[in-house]
This record gives sequence, C-alpha cells and structure tokens, in this order.
Amino acid sequence: MVVTPHPDDCEGGCGGTLSRWAREAGTQVLVVLCTNGDKGTSDRQIAPGRLAEIRAAEQRAASEAMGAVETVMLGHPDGGLEDSLLFRSQLVREIRRHQPDVLFCIDPYRSVSHTHRDHRMSGQVALDAAFTYAWSYLHFSEQITAEGLRPHSVGEAYLWGSEAPDVYVDIGGYLEHKAAALLSHVSQFPDPAGRRERVATGATETGKTAGLPYAEGFRRIRFDLGTPAWRYLHT
Ligand SMILES: [Zn+2]
Repeated sequence: MVVTPHPDDCEGGCGGTLSRWAREAGTQVLVVLCTNGDKGTSDRQIAPGRLAEIRAAEQRAASEAMGAVETVMLGHPDGGLEDSLLFRSQLVREIRRHQPDVLFCIDPYRSVSHTHRDHRMSGQVALDAAFTYAWSYLHFSEQITAEGLRPHSVGEAYLWGSEAPDVYVDIGGYLEHKAAALLSHVSQFPDPAGRRERVATGATETGKTAGLPYAEGFRRIRFDLGTPAWRYLHT
C-alpha cells in the first residue's frame, strides 16, 4: 500500500520498486492518493475542479503503468492535508480493507531541507495509521463493528525521500516503467524528455551508494520493534 500526497509523488519515489515487485513478485500494489492536486499549476486559465479531473485521470494512467491493482482517491484539497481524525481514519480504513504487508510513504522527518506540508502530513499520518491505529480494534471501532473490517498490523514501512536511506532496491530494467508512470502526469511535466533524463540521473546517483547501476533508496521502519507483547494485548 502506497500513500502518496499528490498525483506524481510516489512515481518518483518508488515507481521503479513497485513496478518491479508487481511484475516479478506478484505484489498487489494499492495506491492511496490523498489530495486531488487541484493547486498544481501556474496556468491561470484552468479551474481547480478541472485540474483535479485531469490529475485523477493522470493518476489512473500512472498507477496502471506501475502495475497497481487499485487506486483509492481520498480527494482532500491540494495543500489541505491535516493530521486530523478524519484523515487518520481514512488511512486506517484502507489498511484494514487491504491488509498490506508493506507501507510505502514519504519520510516526514527531515532535518536539513523543507518539504511540502502535504508531504509531511501524509507521511506522518500514514505511519501513525499503520502503527498502531489500524491494529487496535478500539481505534475507529465503528470500522470493525459497522463496516465489517478487521484490525491489521503492517509489518514494515519503506520511506522515500529520506535523508538517511538504508535499503536500496535495484531498478535496472524498470527505469522505463518508472519514467512512464511519472510522465503519465502530463500536466506536470512540460519537458518530458528532460524529466526522463533526470529519472535516469537520479537512479544512477542513488545506485552509487549501493553499488547498483540504478536504484531507489528508502528508510525502512519495522513496526514490531522486537516487543511482540503488544500484539497480544487485546486477544
Ligand atoms: Zn507532492
């Protein structure tokens, strides 16, 4: 399960890895798009509602290019993500619905550079939803009692955009898939050739650390933390 703040974020962060896992490992990839991207233009002629429609279609094409089986669009306004009960409950619901082994999201914690507010919010709330809200039936219990969902504990998270990646995935052979997914967001890339080149350059740079020609890098968080007792508290 991938939690991406705007259309076009996850493709650059983990598009190669998802494409590879979907095709080689049979991984079922679910994309959860948090905002509708309705502020992502400098074109004053285009109405936000129209832009949101365009970007939803672009996201569907991008998800398909990565081999995702489903895309869920939460529809928050661009720039409007908050660490709210509503947003947290929505991510908890998707975790409970799909029972993912692995969560992909943006690393919300940076010490050197600033990030988009929606990026911080999506990463933070996704991690909180995974640990421990989705697991405990006492959180958002109506999802269990009224909607028939089951609690779920996510095994681990892969954070893209991290200042301290510690896991690298070889995406040689999947650069084209990553670029195709990213460039599905036509409205965001007026210079697709240049962007395609930057995809390759970025993957090469990341790969250097890991001794790979092309890679994506992540900070991995394991949620069990070696203290399994919490798993049994409510059983
Ligand atoms: Zn973004």
